[in-house]
Amino acid sequence: METILIEKDCLEQAAEIIKRGGLVAMPTETVYGLAADALNGAAVAKIFAAKGRPMDNPLIVHIADLSQWDGLVREVPEKARILAETFWPGPLTIILPKADCIPDEVSAGLDTVAVRFPSHPVAQELIRRSVPLAAPSANLSGSPSPTNARHVWDDMNGRIDAVINGDDCAVGVESTVITLASDPPRVLRPGGVTVEQLREAIGEVTVDSAVLQPLQSGEQAASPGMKYKHYSPRARIVLLNGPEQAFVDYVNRHAGEGIAALCYEEEIPALNVPVISIGAENDYAQQANRLFTALREVDERGFRLAYAHCPDTEGMGLAVYNRMIRAAGFEVIDLEA
Ligand code: AMP
Ligand code: MG
Repeated sequence: METILIEKDCLEQAAEIIKRGGLVAMPTETVYGLAADALNGAAVAKIFAAKGRPMDNPLIVHIADLSQWDGLVREVPEKARILAETFWPGPLTIILPKADCIPDEVSAGLDTVAVRFPSHPVAQELIRRSVPLAAPSANLSGSPSPTNARHVWDDMNGRIDAVINGDDCAVGVESTVITLASDPPRVLRPGGVTVEQLREAIGEVTVDSAVLQPLQSGEQAASPGMKYKHYSPRARIVLLNGPEQAFVDYVNRHAGEGIAALCYEEEIPALNVPVISIGAENDYAQQANRLFTALREVDERGFRLAYAHCPDTEGMGLAVYNRMIRAAGFEVIDLEA
């Protein structure tokens, strides 16, 4: 298949592709999404084929007007309304029992549907010119998510109809996913809206244990997507958990051919290996913004192993930690303080 590049001010062509059942990669404020008509099961099935995504991993439906939400879910309860008023448009995905019109390809056979109202003007305009869009991240399944049009092109050229040539993503990690189909509401994936912000808006919110740990054997995944190793470059990533000096000493002792460090800006001068910075130690938003580009850079520069400093789990740090630990396949070394 020939993939075309569409400029962001020529969205009519992209809308036409969607309406006839094709696939278009679009910029959003979180990461680039791979979009299809959410109510066309055959079109949605092509997303799974293009990404090599397991069919049991459900997709998020993107809307550009609150009125579209009502048609997609059975009802919108009070807490959902408050979350929407507080965080939409923006990087929050809300799961509720689904309406009958949602194809099984979107919900992966679950009786719920995940919905988000993105703030990105290009995503909004594409939805307004077409229909609600089912869209996962526009990367090959398992690899780091795309935060610019080049990442998408590298993964998807020849596999989809079109890529919209937009700007780099502002947030850089995927949306926060919260389910209101359970009580109390539960975060299934941390992202651009923090757990602290959610609690401020609606009170008690729990965090699914799979956010921080691998699923224990016999444990049921709340979302099938939580089972898989994810966000990984081809190179091996090993997380080192400990203070700056311990991190620097460990990496310098293990320096060698093909080995790099994924580190904080402040650590660069002390490291004797090639470095890829994910940002300043206390700037979680910057780390989120750079994380996936940094993970892709590990492969682009030909490293076989990168030692990464284990991120903090406060605020947006939790989203960075959640991606990093999956990129590392949960391989963590605890360093002495
Ligand atoms: P991505 O494919 O990277 O955009 O991620 C979509 C995320 O939303 C995945 O982690 C899915 O497992 C999750 N998700 C989507 N729909 C549902 C649902 N109905 N229930 C639980 N998780 C969902
Ligand atoms: Mg994804």
